[in-house]
Amino acid sequence: AAILQIDKLSKQYADGTAALHDVTFSLEPGEFVAVIGPSGAGKSTLLRCINRLVEPTEGSVLFDDIHSDKANRRQVQQLRRQVGMIFQGYNLVERVSVLHNVLHGRLGYMDPIRGALGLFSNHDKQEAKALLVRLGLEQQIYKRADELSGGQQQRVGIARALCQKPKLMLADEPIASLDPLTSKVIMDYLYRICREDGIACMVNLHQVDVAKSYATRIIGMHKGKIVFNGRPDELTDEA
Ligand code: ADP
Ligand code: ADP
Repeated sequence: AAILQIDKLSKQYADGTAALHDVTFSLEPGEFVAVIGPSGAGKSTLLRCINRLVEPTEGSVLFDDIHSDKANRRQVQQLRRQVGMIFQGYNLVERVSVLHNVLHGRLGYMDPIRGALGLFSNHDKQEAKALLVRLGLEQQIYKRADELSGGQQQRVGIARALCQKPKLMLADEPIASLDPLTSKVIMDYLYRICREDGIACMVNLHQVDVAKSYATRIIGMHKGKIVFNGRPDELTDEA
């Protein structure tokens, strides 16, 4: 069964910009899908509609039995817990340790008071550390996030998302600020860990070559519509 089902999704922003128009597709567990298309195509809006960072104008998002357009606050929270997200700008808390940035991924599981006080259990800390080791950041665990290179910060971003134990990972241009060599390192980690842990992944990319070398499926977008949805080897130049 599909883990994510998007049906006739449209988004018009308050200023009238039509960012998505009638987008329909579904995602099977364990898929690694690249969403490609030029800047302004609607890729970021699409990802943000899935975890409700953006409110769609029309259509529906069904994630793992949660109908997000009919979801109440509690269900939206439950949905966001199961959907990890990583960003182009990493979105780390700069003055805080790498370990605590990763533990932020756990906050959705904790009561707000303990979370605000940073009272994480030893179990949570061990899990967060294990993730950092897995991402090659053993030496960086107690450093401040802003002491790290861009590629290291993005690995922290991946660890934070994984700390939520997501079923789906959304990555919004995760390598757009990184050089080609670092980009490969990031994509290798993201791909390998999602595969190993059976996490479905949707990653927005504007480099077609990167999309082709990792994705099990490619969704091509243009002006808010899906113009391609298929295997990487089916993608021709006009898409
Ligand atoms: P992409 O990720 O493919 O670059 P976006 O989803 O960011 O595309 O943007 C799609 C369109 O929606 C663009 O025209 C963009 O300017 C517009 N847009 C994005 N966010 C907003 C917003 N908050 N308010 C108004 N327009 C927006
Ligand atoms: P990107 O396209 O790489 O996501 P942008 O610089 O286009 O980055 O957008 C940065 C932020 O501004 C995003 O949160 C986006 O939703 C918002 N945004 C983008 N386009 C518009 C717009 N036309 N009006 C208002 N907000 C926008």
